[in-house]
Amino acid sequence: MIGQTIAERVKELLTSLPQGVLLVGAAKMRTPDEVRAAVEAGLTAIGHNYVQQAEAMRQTLAQWESQRDPPVRWHLIGHLQRNKAKKAVALFDMIETIDSLRIARTVDRHCAAAGKIMPVLVEINSGEESSKTGVRPDEAESLVRQIAELENIHVQGLMTMGPRFGNPEDARPYFRLTRGLLERLASADLQRVDMRCLSMDMSNSYQVAIEEGSNMVRVGTKLFGPRSD
Ligand SMILES: *Cc1c(COP(=O)(O)O)cnc(C)c1O
Repeated sequence: MIGQTIAERVKELLTSLPQGVLLVGAAKMRTPDEVRAAVEAGLTAIGHNYVQQAEAMRQTLAQWESQRDPPVRWHLIGHLQRNKAKKAVALFDMIETIDSLRIARTVDRHCAAAGKIMPVLVEINSGEESSKTGVRPDEAESLVRQIAELENIHVQGLMTMGPRFGNPEDARPYFRLTRGLLERLASADLQRVDMRCLSMDMSNSYQVAIEEGSNMVRVGTKLFGPRSD
């Protein structure tokens, strides 16, 4: 990995992923040039944790982005605060981190004003860790049912980080639990809910996550190289 360029890493990872798995490049702390290099090598989706940094990055890249066809897809993968919701609605194509009715309602309201339907994932705190955001697994179904009532956001699946372990095998039960939730919610057949995306992993565990049904993997370090943070 050391010595490889971003383009080489992107191509290697893209060819190693099974068909139907979307690679989302986690771009926190990265420069616009790094993101551009990754997209030009074939990456189609960029995940960002921070609304304001994503905004600055998109401003820098605006001219280049306007010539991309198909356009780059931007996913919000960090926690969303209500006072950033309006900007997030303008900047992102998917919000992966909806974890309360309150934030869902705020996003819905801004979407209505902007004339936009936002695809969202509901973030599951699969390890029930107090340090992590996300809804507890036993509260997920009731939250999804409530969000389904909102007309301007569409639930398209679930996201989880899972606890961080040295051994990625240890994360498997949390991925399995999240997939079980997704399947249960899919069979509930709710209006405006389409349980087709499962965004799971935590840095070193994306291969285990894919074995457990993840079809969206958020990868940072392995694409862009070690972060200096
Ligand atoms: C940073 C981040 C990742 C990627 O982590 P790496 O260790 O850099 O691969 C994935 N998901 C989320 C939500 C992140 O914030």
